[in-house]
Amino acid sequence: MSALNNLIKEFEHPRAFEMKFMELYNKTLLTCKEEQPYPTDFTRPSSLGKCARNIFFERTHAPKDPIDLNNPWIYNSVGILESGTDRHERIQNVLFKMEEQGFIKNIDIPTAIKDAQAKGIKSEFVKWNEDKTEARCCNTEYNLYFQADGLVELDNKKAVFEIKTVSCKKLASIRKSQKPLPPHILQATAYAMCLGVDYILFFYEDRDFTSHFPILYKVTDEDKRVVTEKLALVDKCCREGVIPPPNKLECMFCTYKELCNSIENEVAPEGEL
Ligand code: SF4
Repeated sequence: MSALNNLIKEFEHPRAFEMKFMELYNKTLLTCKEEQPYPTDFTRPSSLGKCARNIFFERTHAPKDPIDLNNPWIYNSVGILESGTDRHERIQNVLFKMEEQGFIKNIDIPTAIKDAQAKGIKSEFVKWNEDKTEARCCNTEYNLYFQADGLVELDNKKAVFEIKTVSCKKLASIRKSQKPLPPHILQATAYAMCLGVDYILFFYEDRDFTSHFPILYKVTDEDKRVVTEKLALVDKCCREGVIPPPNKLECMFCTYKELCNSIENEVAPEGEL
């Protein structure tokens, strides 16, 4: 009877085994996810493309939306982040080999911080991560906590080295425009300000074929103004406990939608936000 039941089940749900496996895999995958706690007193440069309210929620450790286990993006994003981290290490290894062969100079981040301090920039080296691949630093003027991918020198030009792994489709549009994406400019501008350099070498890589498209970018005064003003707004709001205004253009990947909507609904009648 049970053999017959199994046959019936298999007929009704021909991919039941695979689906069960996938469900268990995904459940386990979420337990492998590594999350670094967001610092309360600092903003991370990678947040600068997000809405100021989102950064405020991160810094104040506000409650995130419940995880929707039916949303495939929850699982896909774990792998995308992991493959980005893996590729960073491999690309950085190539940079070290380029230096060994005398093609470029890699300026290590603690040295870059000392050079920046000599220019009066209030950046500090905090610590290395466990395997000494990431130099964690902060800047007490802008209240930034950062870890730049590197600083390279070629033909007497120093540039922040910023690796970005993106989808094939996105890389195609970057190739066409020959411009870095706006959130990436804000992030790398923060590194450039903290390290006292004017150039950024964006090293775009697509996730399918690992093809590359580097862009040398000169940081503009306007980039610095946008970054400085956003940081000042978030700092002021954190200091005074005031929630920053929303930016509804940035909501797609935000993990604070429920909290944000509840705040909107509370204040909407008075129209105070
Ligand atoms: S839901 Fe939208 S407006 Fe609200 S914090 Fe997130 S990104 Fe900002």
